[in-house]
Amino acid sequence: MPIRQLSETMINQIAAGEVIERPASVVKELVENALDAGASKVEVVTSGGGLNLIRVTDDGFGIPERELALAIARHCTSKLTEDINDIRSLGFRGEALPSIGSVSRLSIRSRTASSDSAAEIGIEGGRVLPIKPAAANRGTTVEVRDLFFATPARLKFMKGERAESSAISDIVKRIAIAFPTVRFTLAGSDRTTLELPATDDSADGSLRRVAQVMGADFPDNSIAIDAMREGVHLTGHVSIPSFTRANALQQYAYVNGRPVRDKLIAGAIRGAFADVLPRDRHAVTVLFLSLDPAIVDVNVHPAKADVRFRDPGLVRGLIVGAIRQALADAGIRSATTGAA
Ligand code: ADP
Ligand code: MG
Repeated sequence: MPIRQLSETMINQIAAGEVIERPASVVKELVENALDAGASKVEVVTSGGGLNLIRVTDDGFGIPERELALAIARHCTSKLTEDINDIRSLGFRGEALPSIGSVSRLSIRSRTASSDSAAEIGIEGGRVLPIKPAAANRGTTVEVRDLFFATPARLKFMKGERAESSAISDIVKRIAIAFPTVRFTLAGSDRTTLELPATDDSADGSLRRVAQVMGADFPDNSIAIDAMREGVHLTGHVSIPSFTRANALQQYAYVNGRPVRDKLIAGAIRGAFADVLPRDRHAVTVLFLSLDPAIVDVNVHPAKADVRFRDPGLVRGLIVGAIRQALADAGIRSATTGAA
């Protein structure tokens, strides 16, 4: 057979295989887009664990009608400057919408501040539908129906409505912690509802948002972290040793506002608590790292939850040292036991 270029739809479905693992991945991408658009309110509605419907509405700056077709075209983004070392938005790959549109029925309705009407575009299993006029307030609504209808093999791997709903709720919470000034709501067809009113971007506002997510008893059972080493700033809260969990699911970490799952950070937290916690107990932690975007690579995997630090030892030392010091200052452990 001669060598040929894959079709656009097939290319997008292959990309979707990496980025869109389950309904929660769609919610992550759509909520991140809303935040990149400067939204102050993000509303998520789902049904059937997100497999029947995911709808994300924001009050952000919207997409002009003439750019709607580009929004669902591969590798088209309004976010990337020419420098991959200076990524400040959550998105930058221009892949999410075309990928989702290749495996579902997706529609985008949007209106910018300067336009007096909205417009809508659709894409179903990769087939683009014509743009039509619509009614909407300023902002964007993206609706995803029948996720994975075009890729039945992926559909078979879904875990059931309850598990998918709970993954959706977890991702909304995870993102919301980093954006305390934004109001988030989540309404599912089952019991999964969430309402997180906006707080503010002070340290106190950030802690109030954390309490909305972690429970009202977290602030009284946690200590503040604030440390700086060689230009890397670490802030957040960690629970005291009497307030623990049987697993590490409530350990939230952010790098420049981006939620990450990182072995190095998880290992540093374990190390910091090693001599005050039994091995089968885990602290509840919310840690924010802020550093020069040029010394952390966020382009490791399409889902962008993995990061690579240029100096992992520095980051590990900072986290271990800061938590141990904070525990010592709170009289929980001696600052001299154990080396960082
Ligand atoms: P990326 O986020 O990497 O740019 P996406 O495929 O997620 O790629 O989105 C493509 C483009 O569509 C974005 O760069 C942005 O210009 C536009 N867009 C998507 N969602 C929204 C939204 N909620 N509000 C405003 N613009 C949006
Ligand atoms: Mg995006």
